[in-house]
Amino acid sequence: MSSVRRAFQAVIGKQFDRVTLLEADKLASPAPETDGQPAEAIMQAAKQRRGIPQLAHPHTLAMGGLEAMDALLPGFEEELVRRGGIKLDLARDLRFYDFGANYVRADSTLKSVGASRALIQSTLQDEVMRRNAGKLTVMEGCRVSGLLWDEEKTWVELRSGEELQADLVIVASGRASCLPQWLKAAGHPVPAVHKVDAQLVYVGRMYEMPKDWDKKKWMGHITFSRPTGLTGAGMVPVEGSVWQMVEWGYNGVVPPMDEQAFLDYAANLPDKEIYNAISSAKALTPLCKHAGANNVQRCWDATPPPPGVLVIGDGVQALNPVYAQGMSVAAKSAECLGKVMQASVPGKASPEARRQAVRGMGPSFQKQLAAVVAPAWMMATSEDQRYPGTKVEGVAKPPRLLCLYIDALVKSCHHNAAVLMGFFEVAHLVRPPTHLFHPRMLAAGLKQMLWDAWQGLWPAAPSRAALKAE
Ligand SMILES: Cc1cc2nc3c(=O)[nH]c(=O)nc-3n(C[C@H](O)[C@H](O)[C@H](O)COP(=O)(O)OP(=O)(O)OC[C@H]3O[C@@H](n4cnc5c(N)ncnc54)[C@H](O)[C@@H]3O)c2cc1C
Repeated sequence: MSSVRRAFQAVIGKQFDRVTLLEADKLASPAPETDGQPAEAIMQAAKQRRGIPQLAHPHTLAMGGLEAMDALLPGFEEELVRRGGIKLDLARDLRFYDFGANYVRADSTLKSVGASRALIQSTLQDEVMRRNAGKLTVMEGCRVSGLLWDEEKTWVELRSGEELQADLVIVASGRASCLPQWLKAAGHPVPAVHKVDAQLVYVGRMYEMPKDWDKKKWMGHITFSRPTGLTGAGMVPVEGSVWQMVEWGYNGVVPPMDEQAFLDYAANLPDKEIYNAISSAKALTPLCKHAGANNVQRCWDATPPPPGVLVIGDGVQALNPVYAQGMSVAAKSAECLGKVMQASVPGKASPEARRQAVRGMGPSFQKQLAAVVAPAWMMATSEDQRYPGTKVEGVAKPPRLLCLYIDALVKSCHHNAAVLMGFFEVAHLVRPPTHLFHPRMLAAGLKQMLWDAWQGLWPAAPSRAALKAE
């Protein structure tokens, strides 16, 4: 069961008498808890869940995603914390180094919970199963190999040769979903694909947070080498005083798998904090690599799947994980599914009328979903298109003036806490991107742009804070 599937189980469980979940992997057993060996438990879960190759890497939960999960499963956040997740104030507990200086830090209402993907996943899974007991059947170790349909019914073909019939099939099989191939084989139109590929490579591992670590200094750290660099690194705190840490590189810059070279890579970042932390912390797991996580969007809104089939999650839009938005977009998509279902399926109608409504809701759902996923796509792809060497298919270049304005806002985050809050609210999917043009944001951004222009340093002008730091 994947993150989005678990989230939408919370939605469809309300509407249907019987829900069957088909998962190719065996579901990960015991949730990683704080006591014991959390890093080992995470690695064990990663081994078991081959269908989620990203499982061992850091998964930051954006505030908008946490809120959506909590709305779908009231009490989720509390349960995640009870199982060891760490409450975070995003503007205070995480330190960001970007455009040559640190963002200002302040107490805020921007919250998240630091937890491994394995813990987020197992908490969602247990909550969904508990709340849908008697209605939900999970078939694990069960790979779907095809799809058949007519106007009245949909069948799912299993690799075992079995066929299952359903009124509605929701495809949530991730970035590598085979749905487009199945449709093509059946002669059904397949959606256009948009891609922005900055050829991201992740190399990371887990470290033990030292017992005497000063948490007031920072609990997590993210370093970007913008505006010109192609490297970066991040470390986030998760259950059991563990840091999940990753180095990344774009367009041919690849973090090394060799121990000393891995440390050197961190040492060569424009800020040394991460290097200082990992060079003295105890490594808990071997280095682990992940490549191929580009931005891919399939336009199911323009070319919907057949009747009785919906698509959700990374199969609609998969993103560069550096921006940490995938799980949150999935949770927001599940909320959207709930709303569209409620609006399309008449509560008091006959079972046959309800069945017909369910089978026909695909085009409307995929259209509304496209609007829900668009902000994260816009943010990730406009940024990634700016790295030299990024491969782009079917996506327009962001206007240069807009890029300069966003850069100016980022630089304002070095000294202006109000801009930082506004910027994070958008990045954490709490507010729409239009909030970046709120009068307060505009005033700060334009002031910074004037400063940059005066310095004659467009487009790569450092901020005043960065200059002071030098
Ligand atoms: C390296 C990396 C780091 C990331 N970091 C973050 C982060 O910090 N924050 C964040 O929010 N997001 C992050 N993401 C994105 C996040 O992992 C995805 O957006 C999210 O998991 C998408 O959920 P999904 O349910 O669509 O797919 P997945 O979680 O990939 O799940 C797909 C599921 O479908 C199953 N499946 C596939 N095919 C079949 C089949 N034929 N039959 C049966 N089952 C099948 C698989 O076994 C799997 O369980 C990261 C991604 C990567 C690659």
